Amino acid sequence: MRRTVLLGLIITATACAPAPLAVIREASTTPPPAAIPDDVEATSPEDAGAGGADESATAESAAEPEAIEVPESDEDRLMVDVDMAATFELQGEREPRSYDRLLAASAIDVEEWLATEFVTPEGIQWDGLRGGRIAAGPGARDIPGCGGAPVTAYEDLTLYVAFYCPIDDVIVLDDGPDGLLEHLSREHGAAATAVVLAHEYGHALQERMGLLDGSVPTILLEQQADCVAGAWLGRAASGGSNVLQLDESDVRTSLIAILNVRDPAGVDQFEPNGHGSGFDRIGAFQVGFEEGLDTCLTLIDAPLDLMPNRFLSYDDYVRGGNAPYDCAFDPDPACRPSWEFLGEDLEEFWSLVIGEPIGLTSSPAPGRASIDCPRAIPLNDIVTLCPGEVVFDETAVLPTYDEVGDFILGYLLALGWVEETLARVGSPAVSEDRVLLSDCLIGAWVSDITLGLDRDPARTSTVGTSPGDLDEALEMIIRLSDPSTATDRSGTAFDKIAAFRTGVLGGLDACV
Ligand SMILES: [Zn+2]
Repeated sequence: MRRTVLLGLIITATACAPAPLAVIREASTTPPPAAIPDDVEATSPEDAGAGGADESATAESAAEPEAIEVPESDEDRLMVDVDMAATFELQGEREPRSYDRLLAASAIDVEEWLATEFVTPEGIQWDGLRGGRIAAGPGARDIPGCGGAPVTAYEDLTLYVAFYCPIDDVIVLDDGPDGLLEHLSREHGAAATAVVLAHEYGHALQERMGLLDGSVPTILLEQQADCVAGAWLGRAASGGSNVLQLDESDVRTSLIAILNVRDPAGVDQFEPNGHGSGFDRIGAFQVGFEEGLDTCLTLIDAPLDLMPNRFLSYDDYVRGGNAPYDCAFDPDPACRPSWEFLGEDLEEFWSLVIGEPIGLTSSPAPGRASIDCPRAIPLNDIVTLCPGEVVFDETAVLPTYDEVGDFILGYLLALGWVEETLARVGSPAVSEDRVLLSDCLIGAWVSDITLGLDRDPARTSTVGTSPGDLDEALEMIIRLSDPSTATDRSGTAFDKIAAFRTGVLGGLDACV
């Protein structure tokens, strides 16, 4: 986030250069340099080379929510007897993996689903993958080169996690023991691999639709593939599959997986290989989840809105879009700790909303146990609303601030101001409804400081979001979410993110 606001605009995907394309690769573990505005000069070549490193998240370094319990067996979820060797061509050295059965069943299910539901306006129907599916590990020798070298080295595959090759009509997954898919599955659940597979099938559909000739920007292809993955998961999670039954924990896992393969902060969506921020990617996934495959197929002609992801100043780029937590290393007397300038912005915004001062400040506490005030309202394990003050557990915030980014604190503090605002206006919302309303309202505040379009002229604060901030908020939301619908406390990750996105994209009017 920035203390000096620079207004951005929602980018509607209409005019953009075509992306040359032979192979659809996924997340790179060596991200391209973050975009620097053409009109911003670097102070020195050395500085330009060093900037932005701390938030140029790679697929591996992207922050991870806490692990949830992964079922030891998928027996109850699978309605078919499957194994990897029957559904994938296995290459390289391989040990059984935790995701094997769910991934194999997912491949069968996606095929069945597409055979039932996919048809182009020209009447082309799903006919299966000519080249099949490959799960490749270390030592794989026969990964298709896809128009380049005769074969793709396994080491190169590890940079992309997965790819679809239209020449061979084949999907290839990095199945290695140290790969992102194995890592995500082990930490969060096997659905991480399944949703990546479904995404690759989305690219295979694009080949049938004639979209992979280089004329369509990569970001639009990726949005559509994310949507297809969401559509498949939505059906499987709502009992529509004859092959497997997915549930809310799988949806949560999928959201984590998508967030982990986002573009690094600062990468413009319309760079040749731009795949989109986590906010945009999850948005497309949620559209598919809720509206189904037919809507996904319209997304090239009617793209979803995308949020700005470019750094707008050199200073912001150098800091990777992250404001320092406090002023410990800043001799500037004008320096303000993050919680102070965030709190002042929140105070101004919500005071203008209700037409009178909210009357809150914010402050850190050295541990949760030290938060002690009369009529305390704990909003979660980290933030407590006290009379006149939003107090946060600094010992919980600091590691997350360093790991994920500064805007986790923006989200957490906003919870306090929103709760006070709801109390002032006498909101009758309770329990999960109140939580989701809060997420939407926080999104409305984020919209105000991100887009500037609806910024109240009475606003004097110049705090603004930076590339990566929206994804940091999503990361915090997932960490605070219920693991499943069975825990009706904080809202599921899917519902909370949907509410937050509603506020970001629609502002206050969309929440109330
Ligand atoms: Zn893709």
